[in-house]
Amino acid sequence: MTAQFKPAKRWPVAILGATGAVGQTFVRLLANHPWFEIAEVAASERSEGKPYAEAAKWLEGTMPEAIGRMTVLPTDPARVSAPIVFSALDSSVAGTAELAFAKAGKLVLSNAKNFRMEPDVPLVIPEVNASHLQLIDKQRRERGWTGAIVTNANCAATVAALALAPLEQEFGIDKLFMMTMQAVSGAGYPGVPSLDILGNVIPYIADEEPKFEKEMFKLLGRYENDSIVLPSMKVSAQCNRVPVEHGHTIAIAASFHTRVTPAMAIDAIRAWKGDPSSRSLPSSPPQAISLTDDPSRPQPRRDVNAGNGMTVTVGRVREDTILDIRMVAMGHNTIRGAAGGSVLNAELLAATGRLGSA
Ligand code: NAP
Repeated sequence: MTAQFKPAKRWPVAILGATGAVGQTFVRLLANHPWFEIAEVAASERSEGKPYAEAAKWLEGTMPEAIGRMTVLPTDPARVSAPIVFSALDSSVAGTAELAFAKAGKLVLSNAKNFRMEPDVPLVIPEVNASHLQLIDKQRRERGWTGAIVTNANCAATVAALALAPLEQEFGIDKLFMMTMQAVSGAGYPGVPSLDILGNVIPYIADEEPKFEKEMFKLLGRYENDSIVLPSMKVSAQCNRVPVEHGHTIAIAASFHTRVTPAMAIDAIRAWKGDPSSRSLPSSPPQAISLTDDPSRPQPRRDVNAGNGMTVTVGRVREDTILDIRMVAMGHNTIRGAAGGSVLNAELLAATGRLGSA
């Protein structure tokens, strides 16, 4: 099927964890989606039974009225009828809940860390590794279910993997050093206490560095015979929380299996279009990567909404004094790094015939 694909009618979908920061981003992105229709919203016992407008402390823009009137359901596959489920669940509950939904035959598009590194679970960024979706067949075969779990990556890993995919695919990364400046919305709502983060930098995000490092291998890996062949590289990441609302910025230095100059890196990034199946989906940005030669960019304030939050901006590509090159990448953590990434994954599944008919 091609990118011109149009379903005969929209698929009904449910949002789990619909009241949180990522859940609300799902609501905003899916409220007028051409292929999907929000049929149900679910969250914890704290929210269950309340109108969504009362349960969710709405963070940005105007809440879609029709969703505000919906009653929040429990996170229980027996109470949710939609066959496609977007999960923005807290990781403390996502493990059990997402498993239960997949066992009940639902297709779960998860933002949580719990299943990302399972060998039969795709960890997907459509432009980077669309072929990994084939792991669904192995998952269904081995787990004996008709449902599926498809994950998207940690928000920092998503930004870094998009920025680095052209270079990995063209030259092969040897060593990778990354230092993040991560927005507060990455910690959910209410997230980091204001007195901890205002006018401050916190050089620690619990569990973030190992997740970021491990996921980079899987994201940049190659699908082969029902598994992912990991790239042979060394990765080191340091993660920091900074007082920025949205947008994770990552300073990157890399060396490659062959000598790469900044001009070669710039040419590779400019020429890269990503997997053809990822183009022209409803949420595909005009460019997955926008390369800037302004030495003061990318900046979250100015660039975070590029491509409706789906474009990663890359700048300051230059020679490194230790490795080959260095550069800065920045992308929207709750859109490209979370809900928007899941929606794009669902669109790719639909356009490639993996959702069946609505
Ligand atoms: P959040 O604002 O804290 O929202 C968490 C959601 O989970 C809320 O809807 C909450 O419902 C629900 N929940 C909590 N405990 C529950 C339970 N026992 N049963 C059912 N629902 C429960 O967190 P977030 O930032 O949106 O993150 C959601 C997920 O996405 C997490 O796994 C996170 O790691 C991942 N993620 C976040 C980002 C980001 O940039 N924020 C990026 C990538 C991935 P109530 O409102 O009813 O409590």
